[in-house]
Amino acid sequence: MVERLDDAAELVGVDPDVHAMLRRPQRILEVSVPVRMDDGHVEVFTGWRVHHNVTIGPAKGGLRFHPDLDVEELTALAAGMTFKCAVAGLPFGGAKGGVRCDPRVMSVHELERVTRRYTWEILPLLGPDKDVPAPDVNTDGRVMAWMMDTVSMARGEVLTASVTGKPLAVGGTRGYQGATSSGVVVAARAAFQHADIDLRGSRAVVQGFGKVGGPLVFLLASAGMRVIAVADITGAVHNPGGLDPTALSDHVAKTGGVAGFDLADPIEPAEMWALEAELVVPAALDGAITDVVAEQLRAKIVVEAANGPTTPAADAVLQRRGIIVVPDILANVGGVTASYFEWAQSRQGYPWDDEDVAERLRTTLDRAFTTVWARGEALGVSLRRAAFAVAVERIAEAIEARGLFP
Ligand code: NAD
Repeated sequence: MVERLDDAAELVGVDPDVHAMLRRPQRILEVSVPVRMDDGHVEVFTGWRVHHNVTIGPAKGGLRFHPDLDVEELTALAAGMTFKCAVAGLPFGGAKGGVRCDPRVMSVHELERVTRRYTWEILPLLGPDKDVPAPDVNTDGRVMAWMMDTVSMARGEVLTASVTGKPLAVGGTRGYQGATSSGVVVAARAAFQHADIDLRGSRAVVQGFGKVGGPLVFLLASAGMRVIAVADITGAVHNPGGLDPTALSDHVAKTGGVAGFDLADPIEPAEMWALEAELVVPAALDGAITDVVAEQLRAKIVVEAANGPTTPAADAVLQRRGIIVVPDILANVGGVTASYFEWAQSRQGYPWDDEDVAERLRTTLDRAFTTVWARGEALGVSLRRAAFAVAVERIAEAIEARGLFP
């Protein structure tokens, strides 16, 4: 993340003082989270909340529960959120947080107590105008509702705008589920248009069939694409005529994965990358597209739905081969954009309907894509470098406008 920042700062000539400020997180709070477990003993977990930069607006970023969590990873992810929000033009800074724990071995009551005690410990940082967490790895709407309730109880007021990704019953937004996938489709459409390729009838290969990949396969098919291969943790399946998303989804719901889907042929996951297709969407893991994979790709466009799916070495190969890469900080901003919409609705106390959310999502992402594409052309650089350049310029402008306190 620091290398990408350094590159962008040099590319657009950011003031060295501002650059130095952006290389470090603004604040990191480490807390201990003692929780009485169901068997009566007390387990003491460690939690963090990192604010990378809050010049443009309140800190925005996910909350994750994971046994391998560390503060370095959270700090890089918080910086990524600062840049992602700036690329999308959202009035937020960047944050990330979490608790080092394994939710798979915890009961729902233990999970609630961890959430509430963690929230209490980081309370000085939280609030609609300070820091607005959202779900991330192993957290969901239920966790967000507990968090919102804890903040509200502590402050003695109902603060629905203190978190996003909440259930609709407590001020969540329509269109939250699937917003990331919708954004990926907007990015893919724009890339196809710029590359002068007809999206309708084109072929797509998708890695991942989870919260992002699952809805994405439906959306690509309804946009007129043929999704010819899908991989997940269980294997990969291929049908040159196009996979039937509903049948695939039913199969995954029944069996837990795409492997064994009988309306397609099984293929080796590694072979999937070399299939002839116009679009490849990694929507599963970081580091999935290595330099070896990059040499094999026959697609013309890669849209990064996952965070960090392309290694730096692969990035260089894709650029040399003239393959368009829509980078993660642009391609997957649909989720945080929907979070912004939820925050705005909660603050206004005025829910929007499905069409309002969908239309504003399209407009926001189209605008971000057009800006980044134009910046890339003007600077003669990849969309990734251009996206970071746009982000860093916007944040630098805000830092310079506010001046240095005191
Ligand atoms: P998820 O856990 O719901 O789904 C992950 C998918 O990846 C599953 O289908 C899983 O089987 C598959 N997978 C795991 N290991 C694999 C392997 N070795 N080979 C092939 N497939 C494998 O996660 P998600 O929320 O869909 O997130 C996917 C990516 O998108 C992550 O990088 C995440 O950071 C990023 N992202 C998600 C959102 C969001 O709104 N959920 C927003 C922005 C970015």
